[in-house]
Amino acid sequence: MKELFKINQFNLMASDLIALNRSLPDVRLEGCKTKTYPDDLPNTSIVIVFHNEAWSTLLRTVHSVINRSPRRLLSEVILVDDASERDFLKSSLEKYVKRLEVPIKIIRMEQRSGLIRARLRGAKASKGQVITFLDAHCECTLGWLEPLLARIKEDRRTVVCPIIDVISDDTFEYMAGSDMTYGGFNWKLNFRWYPVPQREMDRRKGDRTLPVRTPTMAGGLFSIDRNYFEEIGTYDSGMDIWGGENLEMSFRIWQCGGSLEIVTCSHVGHVFRKATPYTFPGGTGHVINKNNRRLAEVWMDEFKDFFYIISPGVVKVDYGDVSVRKMLRGKLKCKPFSWYLENIYPDSQIPRRYYSLGEIRNVETNQCLDNMGRKENEKVGIFNCHGMGGNQVFSYTADKEIRTDDLCLDVSRLSGPVIMLKCHHMRGNQLWEYDSETRTFLHVITQSCLTVGKVEDGVHGPTVEFCNGSPLQKWTLRNYTRLEVFSNIFYSPTDYFL
Ligand code: UDP
Ligand code: MN
Repeated sequence: MKELFKINQFNLMASDLIALNRSLPDVRLEGCKTKTYPDDLPNTSIVIVFHNEAWSTLLRTVHSVINRSPRRLLSEVILVDDASERDFLKSSLEKYVKRLEVPIKIIRMEQRSGLIRARLRGAKASKGQVITFLDAHCECTLGWLEPLLARIKEDRRTVVCPIIDVISDDTFEYMAGSDMTYGGFNWKLNFRWYPVPQREMDRRKGDRTLPVRTPTMAGGLFSIDRNYFEEIGTYDSGMDIWGGENLEMSFRIWQCGGSLEIVTCSHVGHVFRKATPYTFPGGTGHVINKNNRRLAEVWMDEFKDFFYIISPGVVKVDYGDVSVRKMLRGKLKCKPFSWYLENIYPDSQIPRRYYSLGEIRNVETNQCLDNMGRKENEKVGIFNCHGMGGNQVFSYTADKEIRTDDLCLDVSRLSGPVIMLKCHHMRGNQLWEYDSETRTFLHVITQSCLTVGKVEDGVHGPTVEFCNGSPLQKWTLRNYTRLEVFSNIFYSPTDYFL
């Protein structure tokens, strides 16, 4: 079992022992089971790209599509082989799929192209009114397809995702995903799940069976009207192998007049892995940084600085030519990223308005706040300023939080240590008032000042103490800007690396 795990980074032995057409639990909300849909839903092509996928997971995906999709809604299944090296994915696969009762096309990429270009090839060959993309290790559950297609029929500029259930990489047990999480991202441009905020529950008047508007999608599983896919600019074909394409598409859809939703009545399982089983030609970090730079340069305007400052080194990565994508953005008259942050993702980790971004330096010791491991619940430290961004980057936001990514400076009592906690937006222990005259940070709730901790106490980081005018309580912020003066213009520290 352990040996086989390494091949695909999941328990291949377990997968191979499970039937290709196994039954699955019906995990839908009760309200979903009785919904009815129009007879004249658009049909869909299913596009599945794969590179060295296991036989059992690939075919379980295919069988679950065939078994649980009404035949009239299924135009075809397109398998795009991204230059796999495994023999069984050649003629054995071709022979096997010929027996199936749904037309299945196999397309072979001549060379390893990555999932973005492989999906583009599959989309090009497809004929259905809708294109549905799936990873090669999914399982569709009862009633998964109708609610996706019905939503697109209502509004063809809505791109829809199912709830992605978890197929255990260890046991292949099927576990329901939550309808209370949606997609976001952090300063490093990693996709993350976050709780659906109250405003989105209110918009749906508490009805959890209605689609959730999501700022971003995970990217592997979604349906899109095929003409709209063309109109909105398909994918960025300059992106390699894996990564970034999901955020690129999410930003593009929202900024250019579409919408992105999780249809909570549709459930599809996916084997989530902890590590990637394949090689990334050019190196994993390089490929992902390049893709992320492309999306940041085209879509994020001045807010790309958050990504560049938190990930030192990324600015050295060559991202090629993005002029065609910028032209697309102009042609579609897409809105700025600040509009997206304000209207679609106000609970974002990137603040729409902020006073400063960069180091926070103590006047007396000339050292910088440093969040060291950048982990939750850890003390903030003070170290020599290294000017390399990363752990010494903080943003003092218009909401008066001192944050780095999703963590905020938080302290619960006088003389207590300052720690990093998840930002909660409730002010309280995370509310700091900066006075640019005295250069002090007042911790409002304890009415005390951010202070360099005394080293002889064994305290390694800052604390809050009664305000006494000492230079140990004075801090300079990188390029501090008074928001009221600049009202709607954001300070943009593009000179940071110059
Ligand atoms: N894939 C591909 N070519 C690549 C990398 C990935 O065709 O170079 C396929 C892969 O087989 C899978 C899909 O793209 O069907 C998404 O990749 P993966 O499942 O590794 O991503 P994750 O779900 O872990 O984000
Ligand atoms: Mn996957």
